[in-house]
Amino acid sequence: MRFIKLLLLSLLYTTTTQAQSIEPGVSKQLAETRAANIHNLQYTLNLNIPGNKTTDIEATETITFNYKQTGQALQLDFKEDPAKIKSVEINGKLATINASKEHLLLEAKYLLSSKNTVTLNFTAGNGALNRNDDYLYALFVPDRARTVFPCFDQPNLKATFALTLQLPITWKALSNGPIQDSTSTATNKTYHFKTSDTLSTYLFSFAAGKFISTKQNIGKLNPEFLYRETDKTKIQLSTDAIFKAHGDAVNFLESWTNIPFPFQKIGFVGIPDFQFGGMEHPGEVQYKASSLFLDASATQDQIIARLNLISHETAHMWFGDMVTMDWFNDVWMKEVFANFMADKVTDSLMGDETFNLKFLTDHFPAAYGIDRTPGANPIRQNLDNLKDAGSLYGNIIYHKAPIMMRQLELLMGKENFQNGVREYLKTYAYHNATWPDLIKILGKYTTEDLNVWNNTWVNQPGRPVFNYSLVSKNGKITRFILIQHAERGATRTWAQSFEITLYYPGSTKTITVNMTKGVADLKETQGMKRPMYVLFNSGGEGYGLFPTDKDMYNSIAEIQSPLQRTSAYISLYENMLAGRYIKPAALLDLYTKALNTEKEEMSLRLITGYISSIYWQFITPANRQKVSDQLEGALWQALQQQTAPNNKKILFSTYQSIYQSATARNNVYNVWKQQQPPAGIKLSEDDYTGLSFSLALRNDADTTILTQQYARITNPDRKKRFEFIRPALSSDVKVRDQFFRSLQELKNRAKESNVLTALSYLHHPLRQATSVKYLAKSLDLLQTIQVTGDIFFPQSWLSSTFGSYQSAEAAQIVNTFLANHPNYNEKLKAKIQQSTDNLMRASTKLLPKTVMIE
Ligand SMILES: [Zn+2]
Repeated sequence: MRFIKLLLLSLLYTTTTQAQSIEPGVSKQLAETRAANIHNLQYTLNLNIPGNKTTDIEATETITFNYKQTGQALQLDFKEDPAKIKSVEINGKLATINASKEHLLLEAKYLLSSKNTVTLNFTAGNGALNRNDDYLYALFVPDRARTVFPCFDQPNLKATFALTLQLPITWKALSNGPIQDSTSTATNKTYHFKTSDTLSTYLFSFAAGKFISTKQNIGKLNPEFLYRETDKTKIQLSTDAIFKAHGDAVNFLESWTNIPFPFQKIGFVGIPDFQFGGMEHPGEVQYKASSLFLDASATQDQIIARLNLISHETAHMWFGDMVTMDWFNDVWMKEVFANFMADKVTDSLMGDETFNLKFLTDHFPAAYGIDRTPGANPIRQNLDNLKDAGSLYGNIIYHKAPIMMRQLELLMGKENFQNGVREYLKTYAYHNATWPDLIKILGKYTTEDLNVWNNTWVNQPGRPVFNYSLVSKNGKITRFILIQHAERGATRTWAQSFEITLYYPGSTKTITVNMTKGVADLKETQGMKRPMYVLFNSGGEGYGLFPTDKDMYNSIAEIQSPLQRTSAYISLYENMLAGRYIKPAALLDLYTKALNTEKEEMSLRLITGYISSIYWQFITPANRQKVSDQLEGALWQALQQQTAPNNKKILFSTYQSIYQSATARNNVYNVWKQQQPPAGIKLSEDDYTGLSFSLALRNDADTTILTQQYARITNPDRKKRFEFIRPALSSDVKVRDQFFRSLQELKNRAKESNVLTALSYLHHPLRQATSVKYLAKSLDLLQTIQVTGDIFFPQSWLSSTFGSYQSAEAAQIVNTFLANHPNYNEKLKAKIQQSTDNLMRASTKLLPKTVMIE
């Protein structure tokens, strides 16, 4: 049916060059047609960048490519005012400029069925250049190159880029290729960059501005690092570690993949208030500066996070940059491999035990946070137009996918998996590939049916719920079975392997469960003594909602292995949300008791996070007053008892975030005022800024706190950040109203990471009575935010806004919005459902009934 219709259309339309469908963005159909007809693509781009961020950037560009004539106009992507194009010359002939719906149309009569040269004179768009007073950076992922210069903006039209930048004399620059030569006048300089390796448009990039440059040798490479940090201690304590982390990651990846570093050079830039953690442009990786530069107050967690971030971006050089997804629906592939490899680098440096714990705390809570909601999305999603690519990103890609990949590795065996991935990289080097391409290759290395497996784990959302039945007679187990079913949607089985530990006085017995069907009969337990309690998913590899044994609750501190304890903490929280086994107040109590005894930093961070979540979202404001004194007391006491500085710091930070009493206020205020942290803790300038925000949020009697804190800050980029966030903390509701209104203007949302911090204060539970009125407008703005913002912004906008609400009024606003927009963009609707799931659970109290088979 569909084929016939398409055929008819093409017969009708071949006679005219203007009748092909033109739509905004880059549709899949357009991308497929162009990929079939365009080859050997090269861009030569010359940008004249003035120091003043509001002055236009004048540009020239030459695009050359081999072409297979279609008889129709060729669409070049340019999402800007067509009036910015001054001239277009095609194969030496001046062409009239024909523009429609974000495209420049190159008419068929000018094009040759061989090599073509298109030369353009234009004013560059500023859309993705992130222009600041004295620096800028190009960030084109996923389809934003077309907001700056005309191009074929799709990942499978890889090209080389020859870039020339004219810059103010005091600026430095970094791009994909090394600088080939530079010339200068009294006021300006010109950098010619060497032609880049073959890249997708989203990986072409540069950064330029007033930066400090430093270089260090790491093995055979000598990367350049540009940054704007001014804090001498941070620079001194971080620079070597940053270079070393790159060197370690490169060494690990070269050996794991058996492929040498695949690009001309390594280079990276630390960008203030960068909107992501990092972005993997070959030769010019961009990082959020605050994730790179740490001082002596840094916790182990921050140091590991930096290592992990650098390893993630470095892994992309092989996964994503060298072998690139064919279309952005498979963007998750590059992210899962980058995370998976980053974890392996971390594993090789920190050992299995720490690694397993890190994997557990990093990925599982974040993946469950989406997958338990009615808005959960599968790992692999459809994408009809690149303009919607941003909506694919989220925790499922970053956190469920690595869990899935680890289960795949367990299923296939490590060596088979590695050999399969190596073959995949070799086969598609410098080209594009799809997930089915990879599955096909991996299928050669295993006897398992990867298609069935793929369908449950990758093509469908959701997680399994586990129940059990343990029957015993005369103190011996006679039958122990585990049952899994889908939490939502169609019946299916998540084939996976995990551990169960039986606890006896003075001993334990761990069994591995390879669950491939809906029911697993744990025959090896028959005849064993009935345990005191059972810890399900004790090794933390299993994915889903696992039971928690009530007889464990009072003994959790006695579980020796941090990994097992932490897996229990996670299962308890998930069950609390699901309405099984334990209620919020009881769980808050259980976690509070663990504050003294939990010595493992990652686990302590996790439970203090859960404590904040329950305290602010699952306890009513009235009950919160009642438990507050006890919780403050427990935190303060644990802070004295714990000996590790990082643990003390985590506890202090939780104390600061939950405090309500006058005593606690004085403790927090004195620390901030005298800049004298509790014994054993180191606090950085950012920490003191956080303290000043906590105090201001509670309308502290000292009304000059923010002014004093502002005066303490010396770094100009951080001063600007403070100025931006400050009105969101004002005790004057009119100032906050005005701040929220200002966010409706695009220019006030430009620094997204600052917007998000401000929003989380604006919507803090202590301010919700006056902020609930912003919720409806925040939802109204969502579509605009998706169009104008960077890829993570819609989701983060929602979670910073709705992240801590619990009232029926807030829930009603969301429900009304969804009811009034029945045809709302599905992916955005899903994001709303994901971000408001806790709110719905907290507000309705219609939690599902306890399911137990006993
Ligand atoms: Zn990534």
